[in-house]
Amino acid sequence: MSQSQEIKDRIDIVDFISTHVQLQQSGRNFKALCPFHSEKTASFFVFPERQSWRCFGSCATGGDILTFVMQKENVGFGEALRNLGDYAGIRIISKAYQAAEHEVLLRANEETSVYFQNLLLSDRGVPAREYLKAREINTDSIEMFELGLSPPKNELHQHLTSKGFDIKDLAAAGLVTPSNPVKDTFSNRLMFPIRDANRRLIGFGGRALGQSQPKYLNTSKTALFEKGSVVYGMDKAKSEIQRKQTAIIVEGYMDVIACHAQGTLNAVASMGTAITNSQVSILT
Ligand code: ZN
Repeated sequence: MSQSQEIKDRIDIVDFISTHVQLQQSGRNFKALCPFHSEKTASFFVFPERQSWRCFGSCATGGDILTFVMQKENVGFGEALRNLGDYAGIRIISKAYQAAEHEVLLRANEETSVYFQNLLLSDRGVPAREYLKAREINTDSIEMFELGLSPPKNELHQHLTSKGFDIKDLAAAGLVTPSNPVKDTFSNRLMFPIRDANRRLIGFGGRALGQSQPKYLNTSKTALFEKGSVVYGMDKAKSEIQRKQTAIIVEGYMDVIACHAQGTLNAVASMGTAITNSQVSILT
């Protein structure tokens, strides 16, 4: 179960919101003066059955217990998750706390991947799509391997912070360099999301478009990602490797994609380095 789901299961939204706002019963629901805008008649509602809230007044917004905390405390998703974890007493279990941290990074990576994929398919992705075409990577492969394009000029972290992510969490995910000013790690690169055998999106590889160096750049070491322990393509190749009891190890992302397009479904890549013991243990 995800940490956010565990929190939602443990904390009743009515109990929680009533510690911040004076709620009045209204039929099956509860209402109050909206804590997010100034008003004289109550237009803020909490719905116990759906475990959600909504302001029908000038905010015209709503959500679940996490979005309530994000708005009330003006914090990002990660901070809200930790605050609610503390409230529910979940943090005392360090493994669960770690899981909450991981969930934030995974969520940031997933949001990033969608952003990269959309950019590749937009007008701005034409040069990158032409490059892929020249490398004979077709649209099926682009979709299957969720290829994307990272934007120039720090657009990614602007997008992610607008979605409620904290810079601290984005840095922990390896998506930004927490310098001053903050910089996107990947800029104007063809992006390869890297999933583990359980399909968790643990990091990215990026190939430079144009002359920038290095030619290939991976997510740096994070709580989820350690280059020597990752095998690219494992999420796609796992069942075929089990069936054939054999893995074909190729050098890079493009090679894995080319193999899978030709029906060699047990191909994975060691990510450009010599294969490590830890990678071998993933395969066996
Ligand atoms: Zn409101």
